[in-house]
Amino acid sequence: MQQYDTAEEALQGKVILVTGAGDGIGKVAALSYAKAGATVILLGRTVSKLEAVYDEIVEAGCPEPAIVPLDLNGATSTHYQQFAQTIVEQFGKLDGVLHNASLLGYLRPFAQIEEKEWQDIMQVNLTSQFLLTQALLPVLKLAPCASVVFTSSGVGRTGRAYWGAYAVSKFATEGMMQVLADEYANSPIRFNCINPGATRTKMRAKAYPGEKPESLKTPEDIMPLYVYLMADNSKGVNGQSIDAQPK
Ligand code: NDP
Repeated sequence: MQQYDTAEEALQGKVILVTGAGDGIGKVAALSYAKAGATVILLGRTVSKLEAVYDEIVEAGCPEPAIVPLDLNGATSTHYQQFAQTIVEQFGKLDGVLHNASLLGYLRPFAQIEEKEWQDIMQVNLTSQFLLTQALLPVLKLAPCASVVFTSSGVGRTGRAYWGAYAVSKFATEGMMQVLADEYANSPIRFNCINPGATRTKMRAKAYPGEKPESLKTPEDIMPLYVYLMADNSKGVNGQSIDAQPK
């Protein structure tokens, strides 16, 4: 695995939002950001999971996080605008966003994808990222060196049979990142994608039920890239789609 140079207090004083912070990669990213000194805003749909992450962060002696219970499938632009306003009032700025929450749906032939499933996946994996990013841009501009990280996938770069709406949503995520990176190229905000690669989480187990979890990297293993892209030493890295587990 590639080495990323990050100091112990790499995120000291930063305010970072993580979506899907209650489980899997998002949970470990939230903990890692907090341990690197950031105040983390934990967004997710299951309050009990967010509370458990909150407790773990506080018990580790890290900056007190904030919890934002929000179902990205039901939230509207009004919710995101209100959320942006709350961040300004409570924190005065936002230094980073990790767009991590996603819905896998069911792997099945394209001909059998149901319209409702397609729309739910597009809403959670794509449209919510558009609305959230649009609402947060003015708040990100208040930070001296902001970083927005989207989460892609191998099937967001090369289409694969049966990965349907999920794969299409990840292609679109890569596209959204590139549009933003180009538009904000001469600004202090940078936009990049991480492709986590096969990682030991519930989503992976759902996609590959026969696989041995021990054969996979853990979310902890891939964290150096997640911290690096939020830290100031990745300043100038913009418009990249980076593999957390390069081949
Ligand atoms: P998990 O399914 O383990 O976790 C996803 C998180 O997103 C959960 O906390 C979940 O909340 C949250 N979430 C899902 N839907 C919503 C919603 N409607 N509103 C708010 N939160 C929601 O996934 P991973 O940790 O494996 O995946 C993280 C990211 O990495 C995803 O973008 C995924 O596509 C990507 N990825 C993962 C790979 C892997 O091998 N694991 C490989 C390639 C990409 P709740 O806990 O309440 O269900």
